[in-house]
Amino acid sequence: MTTLLCVPITVESVESALADATSARTAGADLVEYRIDRLFHGEGDSEGERGACRLCAESPLPCIITCRPAWEGGEYDGDESARISLFEKLATLDRPPRYIDVEAAALARSANVRQKVRLAVEHDAQPRDLKTSLILSAHDFAGRPAGLLGTLASMREESAARVLKVAYTARSLRDMLELFELLRERDRPMIALGMGEFGAMSRLLAGKFGAFLTFASLRPSAATAPGQPTIADLLLTYRFRSISDRTAVYGVIGWPVGHSISPVVHNAGFEAVGHDGVYVPMPIAPGWEPFKATVLELLGFAALDFRGASVTIPHKEHLLRLALEDRTHRWEVEPRALWAGAANTLTRRADGSILLSNTDAPAAAGALADPLGGALEGARVSVLGAGGAARGVAAGLLERGAEVVVHARRREQAENLVQQLRAARIAQAATIEIGGWGDSGADLRPCLGLVNCTPMGMEGGPEPTASPVDPRLLEQADLRVVMDTVYKPLETPMIRAARALGLGVVTGDRMFITQAARQFESWTGRVPPSGLFERLVHEVLARSTRTD
Ligand code: NAP
Repeated sequence: MTTLLCVPITVESVESALADATSARTAGADLVEYRIDRLFHGEGDSEGERGACRLCAESPLPCIITCRPAWEGGEYDGDESARISLFEKLATLDRPPRYIDVEAAALARSANVRQKVRLAVEHDAQPRDLKTSLILSAHDFAGRPAGLLGTLASMREESAARVLKVAYTARSLRDMLELFELLRERDRPMIALGMGEFGAMSRLLAGKFGAFLTFASLRPSAATAPGQPTIADLLLTYRFRSISDRTAVYGVIGWPVGHSISPVVHNAGFEAVGHDGVYVPMPIAPGWEPFKATVLELLGFAALDFRGASVTIPHKEHLLRLALEDRTHRWEVEPRALWAGAANTLTRRADGSILLSNTDAPAAAGALADPLGGALEGARVSVLGAGGAARGVAAGLLERGAEVVVHARRREQAENLVQQLRAARIAQAATIEIGGWGDSGADLRPCLGLVNCTPMGMEGGPEPTASPVDPRLLEQADLRVVMDTVYKPLETPMIRAARALGLGVVTGDRMFITQAARQFESWTGRVPPSGLFERLVHEVLARSTRTD
């Protein structure tokens, strides 16, 4: 069965709801859900009742009518009997709703409600010729309900329900796996959704696990539940229509990951080379324990077919640690990841073994080498910052034979990095040492290249207008290339200053695009089509600058 795409519409006025439904149809939805909690106010609200009838009669798409009471997270605060009577009435219209959504708790509370709902919908024991089916639902906005399995068991006993729906606020990605398991065990069409930031996977992968439908909002502000994607995201970025039970799953693991560019890039790449995969956000809360527990569960859930991940802040070091400590899988760690003490790419091979790599390191070195004619041998390069990115960049530079000077505001952090990379003995002639950091940033010594690995100059970062190095220091005779790892914005204050001096510049997109292309190749065995990642990254950056 194909998973339907349903656009929920909070009905403020019948006209605007019908207009939204028309837009939903144009955008590619199969179904709309009219949330009439604000339209219908209960006993005696004949205007609300007429509005609901008109929605059914004029809807451009088959519809679900939902009037969610306040006690189940909705806004309807009228009396229960008026709500159920409205459903009964709608079901007998010439153009009735295709579905009504009624809460399992409403049926459990009252035998009378249960009987009335059963009379209003089509089911095997219904003698009347009705066209409206029942979606029986259970929601929990506080978290995974303790009695979830019991609730589901009693919902299954309701033979009048054609579709069962469970939705709760997910506490972690591990809750998603439980929802997928529920879908796999379904005895009839089912909707199983996680709400909140951890829930995206259940919405994006609904088709893989044969869910009855997934919800997507018409526009970001129209979401009716936290974490709901837009229909454009679902259809264009995540290629929802092409996801099947055979589709392999990839993702970006980090915290936060909501604004990552990577899903746009990798999903488009999969489409371009005909790879049956989907790449989704995989948020994992900071800390070793959540990372370890979640990644092992993702790897252990065979039905997910989890084949790879980009791993970003704050988990790059955790990924390496997992590979070194876990004995339940066969791991192979690329030397670069060991040198850098961090990995950003997980690739699960067809034989089940897992390759860990660090694509930041060669991507950064390659990006810096380009304007220098491709050679870094013997070139002196200053690395600013001593965090995760600096570690990878310095390892990549040493690998290409550069001499590296690490500048960090906390000297002990620079010392740690330098000690670790010295011990790694990456390249025979390469050297690495510590540089200074003063009141106006790095105390730059003579160098040929410079790479900023701090978030200084990053939009939304701690110092968006600052440069990690005093622009006057860039005027030294032998400096030829200035590179930033920050890519939002592309023109950071440091890059602008370097351009003004006529120096070669490498903006942060170069490293991002190259490391992403290497990940893509590791997963698919194919190179992304020429220029595709670059075009997409620039489009997303331009769009996000416009909307910020
Ligand atoms: P990180 O592990 O937190 O390290 C950041 C480093 O910058 C630390 O040494 C930190 O020192 C230093 N720093 C932070 N704020 C500073 C300030 N105001 N003044 C001086 N030093 C400061 O972060 P990361 O993972 O290395 O990422 C750093 C940057 O690299 C980010 O902006 C990210 O966008 C970029 N990046 C880009 C790519 C790409 O593909 N283009 C890939 C990875 C990272 P303290 O520890 O003292 O704060």
